[in-house]
Amino acid sequence: MINSPTIISQSKHGIPRECISDPAHKVLEHLNRSGFNAYLVGGCVRDLLLGYKPKDFDVATDATPEQVRELFPNSRLIGRRFRLAHVRFKRNIIEVSTFRAPPSEKLLDHNGRIVDDNIYGTLEQDAWRRDFSINALYYDIRTDSVIDYTGGITDLEKHQIRLIGNPTTRYQEDPVRMLRAVRFMCKLGFDLHPESKEAIYQFASTLQNIPPARLFEEVIKLFLSGYAIQAFSLLRHFGLFQWLFPETETYLIQGDRFSQSFLEQALINTDNRVLEEKPVTAAFLFAVFLWVPIKKLIDQYPDSKKIGELIRKSVETVSINQSRHITLPRRVSLPMKEIWYLQPRFKYQQGIRAVRLLQHPRFRAAYDFLLLRNQADEIPNEQDTNLCRWWDKVQSLEEKERLNYLNPKRSRSNRSKTKKIKPKLNQLVSVDG
Ligand code: ATP
Ligand code: MG
Repeated sequence: MINSPTIISQSKHGIPRECISDPAHKVLEHLNRSGFNAYLVGGCVRDLLLGYKPKDFDVATDATPEQVRELFPNSRLIGRRFRLAHVRFKRNIIEVSTFRAPPSEKLLDHNGRIVDDNIYGTLEQDAWRRDFSINALYYDIRTDSVIDYTGGITDLEKHQIRLIGNPTTRYQEDPVRMLRAVRFMCKLGFDLHPESKEAIYQFASTLQNIPPARLFEEVIKLFLSGYAIQAFSLLRHFGLFQWLFPETETYLIQGDRFSQSFLEQALINTDNRVLEEKPVTAAFLFAVFLWVPIKKLIDQYPDSKKIGELIRKSVETVSINQSRHITLPRRVSLPMKEIWYLQPRFKYQQGIRAVRLLQHPRFRAAYDFLLLRNQADEIPNEQDTNLCRWWDKVQSLEEKERLNYLNPKRSRSNRSKTKKIKPKLNQLVSVDG
């Protein structure tokens, strides 16, 4: 344990001052001028030292959350387990947390998990209770120096992620740190220190003690940041994935070929979209992971005539089981379900049903999902490949042509009917799915 910190001066660390965002500057300066100590901390310092552009800027200070709230009218307090202030500048949020002291026994549950982390402390105490040494570096804008209590600079140089302190205690205190370890391995391409690694195999199952609402954000960061395929493989390797998506893991472990290829293809596509800066959604991601158990339920009734109803029942069963592990906000669960419910509707290639499908706000996501199912060989027959081609063609047409394409009989023979339906169809077709 290092007691006095290593101070790295600007001439050594070389972080250009202009790389620190204006909002971060404002927050630090206002806190310092008001008599508090405030530093940049965490991912932003780590990323600046590695020469990357930080995703966001976090600040640590000796001001309490209430004092921060008073200093910044544009702030609000969030979190119960870990209370902190968000200072907002248009679309930019600076997260300001108060230095934390080591957790007291009283605030641990019977598994050793911290349930209340709101005891304030000093800068040094704050450094030792952060997760990894590379995330416990502080930047002081008053001196332009970096402060290192835990050996983070050496670990950065070694490209190593090392849990601060005893890995057993630290994972018990907060099992989410195991997911964070995987995330930083993927994001930075660093190795995990052997002791920090070993303890994951032992403590993976403690992920089930984490409130499901907290896991949603972590899963999003793991799978929508451009390294989903690697995160998937590492999470499975460490035995963590099964505590996030237990039913999905059941089929993967059985060596189910469709499940493996469907998920891999989806995650490769997601990574490519992130790389191309195209939008990616949590709804699509969860639709993918949970389709594996839903499809298994559907497959039990191959002769079902009521496929829509069967999908709905399977979706309900799987959603209830999954909600014990990860809570999905409604803004995610609703579009996720729509993606599934639209699947059987692609067989209506013509008429008002086809037009309505094309106009549905979730058409594009549902179509991508259909393609993925087809790619994963779930629907290997020619008829279904033709279905994908048909809908691909429809989308490539000019708006005017779509009407004839989706409604050929009406536009040629049944003129009186066409008259009635045409305005409606025109209206629908002009809205691009
Ligand atoms: P990113 O680049 O993804 O934002 P980050 O390291 O900044 O990475 P955040 O989730 O923004 O990650 O957290 C900010 C900092 O807070 C971390 O760098 C770390 O010091 C500390 N921290 C976050 N979560 C934990 C945790 N579960 N246990 C201990 N410290 C944590
Ligand atoms: Mg951060």
